[in-house]
Amino acid sequence: MRNMFIFMLKGAYDNIGRIIFAKDRKTSIQMRNKILAGQVTYPKTVNEDACIGCGACANICPVDAIDMELLKKPVKITKSYVKEKHPVFNPLKCMYCFQCHDNCPIFAFYGMPAAIHPRHVGDFDINLAELLQQPIVMKDKKEIDAIVALLDEKAKKLMTEG
Ligand code: SF4
Ligand code: SF4
Repeated sequence: MRNMFIFMLKGAYDNIGRIIFAKDRKTSIQMRNKILAGQVTYPKTVNEDACIGCGACANICPVDAIDMELLKKPVKITKSYVKEKHPVFNPLKCMYCFQCHDNCPIFAFYGMPAAIHPRHVGDFDINLAELLQQPIVMKDKKEIDAIVALLDEKAKKLMTEG
């Protein structure tokens, strides 16, 4: 009986500690208050400086979590390319498939080039204007030329037969 009384007393003491003094709390009080006040901010997802506004991320997203919105001030990146839109991301819709990351030409969505997908967008030390002016080098250009020549030949043949 005495043991039972001590056991109950200890339980009450522990619970009072938990309820009044937040003993054993795993979430910080600041975080709890932020959650209750709806003030939780999500980590930065898009590297705005790196993004060229191509819209690939918005096109590929399977749940429409990304909208391309017009920029108030368009950004001239090269002589002939102006960034007019930027992706606006809705984290509540995102299911973290990372298609946006994998299909972004410069990995401006969800981080840097990597086989894994970092949650935070890191530093981006690339001159976009220079990057976009570099000629695209096709590694298998010979193969592509051969395919084009073959298709050309077939098209010509079809036209003469028709
Ligand atoms: S991770 Fe997937 S669901 Fe989330 S924004 Fe990117 S493409 Fe959309
Ligand atoms: S795919 Fe990349 S570069 Fe294109 S709009 Fe999305 S984040 Fe920007």
